[in-house]
Amino acid sequence: MTSVPAATSATRKSRPQTNLTVLRREQLSPHMVRIIAGGPGFADYVNNSFVDRYVKIVFPQPGIDYPEPLDLWEVRESMPRDQWPHTRTYTVRWVDEAAGEVAIDFVIHGDEGLAGPWAASARPGDALTFTGPGGGYNPDPAADWYLFAGDESALPAIGASIESLPEDARGLAFLEVDGDADVQAISAPAGVELRWLLRGGVPAGASGLLVSAVRDAIWPEGRVQVFAHGERGYMKSLREVLYAQRGLQRSQVSLSGYWAMGRVEDDFQAEKKLPIGEI
Ligand SMILES: Cc1cc2nc3c(=O)[nH]c(=O)nc-3n(C[C@H](O)[C@H](O)[C@H](O)COP(=O)(O)OP(=O)(O)OC[C@H]3O[C@@H](n4cnc5c(N)ncnc54)[C@H](O)[C@@H]3O)c2cc1C
Repeated sequence: MTSVPAATSATRKSRPQTNLTVLRREQLSPHMVRIIAGGPGFADYVNNSFVDRYVKIVFPQPGIDYPEPLDLWEVRESMPRDQWPHTRTYTVRWVDEAAGEVAIDFVIHGDEGLAGPWAASARPGDALTFTGPGGGYNPDPAADWYLFAGDESALPAIGASIESLPEDARGLAFLEVDGDADVQAISAPAGVELRWLLRGGVPAGASGLLVSAVRDAIWPEGRVQVFAHGERGYMKSLREVLYAQRGLQRSQVSLSGYWAMGRVEDDFQAEKKLPIGEI
């Protein structure tokens, strides 16, 4: 499939552009890098109150002349679609309003792609431009317990969600990563158990560990709220587990693909409108 920039229904007003500068890079684990960005452009960042808030990072296409300074919304109005910059979707792991900083955690998944390789070698002073944030999830205080399930692409959103829970919250989190060294520190309430699932070299999205763990687990009693995100094939399988096997209502579940094996994000997003991309 050819690579076309992802479609969007967002607008300048609902998803303003923020132009930041990379301040530092932290190697969180062998497969995860944290980029902390800030600078004068932070004044334009309009936060929202969702714990899964995400932004669309802008990657100009090489060889195309864009008006300076680059404004994604203006480019989309004035230039042909095949010249639009590419975008990549990332969770804002945390925002420090006082320091004027945002942190974004990137999975390092090899040499392919734009965002992963960019983050792996980003240096202080590099530009980080994004639109957003969007978002849609907050833990429901009326739930009896919380179920989280994700691969490493969803770790930032799940980590932020767990850290936002009240001290007496109960829950189970299934977190699939490559190996022991990729396990991260998440400060969870005592009643929220973190179960790390280690693929041990099997490619992300190919082990099935996450799906079988959620399927086979003994679930606590009571009304659950689910937050499950990650590789698209995994999420399709979890859809069966959550709705068909466990009989949950749609209102209890936040479920979506964050990426798909063998697809660049432009194609992955475009396929959301096709049967193959439906969750
Ligand atoms: C709402 C939302 C929030 C997200 N938050 C985060 C986040 O905080 N951190 C994060 O790392 N990702 C996050 N993702 C996933 C991220 O957008 C995709 O992984 C994206 O494809 C990465 O872009 P890329 O340029 O590195 O690779 P692409 O150019 O899109 O893809 C290149 C190749 O790499 C493969 N690939 C892409 N992602 C992965 C992966 N995670 N593991 C293994 N192979 C991969 C693709 O299948 C493709 O073959 C989020 C996605 C959504 C929709």
